[in-house]
Amino acid sequence: MPENNETHDPNTPLYVGTRKFLGRRDLVLSFYTTKCQFQCTYCALPSRSASFEVTAEQINNQIDHVFDSRAGELDGFRQLCFGNEGSALDPRRFHRESVDHLLHRAREMENLEVLSIETRPEYVKRDYLEHIARTTHAPRIDVTVGFETQDDFIRQTVLKKKISRRVMEDRVALLGELGIRLTSYVLIKPAPRMTDEHGVREAVATMEYLKELCDRHGTELVIYLTPTYVAEGSYLQQTTQPGDWTPPTIQGIFDVVVAGHSMGLPVYTGLWSEELADESTDFRGREGYDPELRKAMVRFNRDHDFSHLLPFTPAQLALAG
Ligand code: SF4
Repeated sequence: MPENNETHDPNTPLYVGTRKFLGRRDLVLSFYTTKCQFQCTYCALPSRSASFEVTAEQINNQIDHVFDSRAGELDGFRQLCFGNEGSALDPRRFHRESVDHLLHRAREMENLEVLSIETRPEYVKRDYLEHIARTTHAPRIDVTVGFETQDDFIRQTVLKKKISRRVMEDRVALLGELGIRLTSYVLIKPAPRMTDEHGVREAVATMEYLKELCDRHGTELVIYLTPTYVAEGSYLQQTTQPGDWTPPTIQGIFDVVVAGHSMGLPVYTGLWSEELADESTDFRGREGYDPELRKAMVRFNRDHDFSHLLPFTPAQLALAG
């Protein structure tokens, strides 16, 4: 994988996708901007971005490209998620005038209910969010961050996230004050040499931490689970020895989903590896992989109806017991 994606046309977005996210049809956009400056060890996303300056005008062209080409179907979406494989609220990479342009064009989505912005927590600032709230016509705003794990050693030393609890807690309090929803990524089995059981316990502990924190500040919370995989081109791939890191099992992922649901949390699970890993290096390569269980979890992602998971629950309880 090249270190950066320099051949991409800076006037077209990196990714345009649709999905059903917990009951809402969702337009998902990732824009091509200057790459994220952080170097989290497990992440290869910056390799999709540019090492040069992508101008506001070019980002505006990317936005126009999406809204012009999708004009006939914009009414069908109730959620809009956007990011740039980094932090969309970082004004040096995703220029503020381009965020404004996006909010302006998004007015063509007449049935929009949720505007979701992917960012690191340090860019979550009161004045910027108040400006966005005044500018968007969406009645609800969501901020999506990658807190990943409550384990400080794993988050800061193994993953090199550079996100302290203090910053996270401060931003969750601000979101609560502003009435903005938090979606947090939670990694399942994020550290080398973790057992499957430890990986499940750790993800459940992270959901408990985030729930307690959000409850304390009156912040609405959605959990986005990410089963860890070794991404091609990541620092992790270059430094991991064979056997150091095995992905979680589909049954372990299921246990975490059930635990989150029983805490009353909306849980969505990323059941793919963003084309940054092949099947042998994610949960699909583990012995005992059950594709039917994955399909049931995909259905649960779409409509949040727990009845999809019920046929698998006795087996899950038996495993846990
Ligand atoms: S996880 Fe986020 S902040 Fe870290 S390198 Fe990847 S895109 Fe950047």
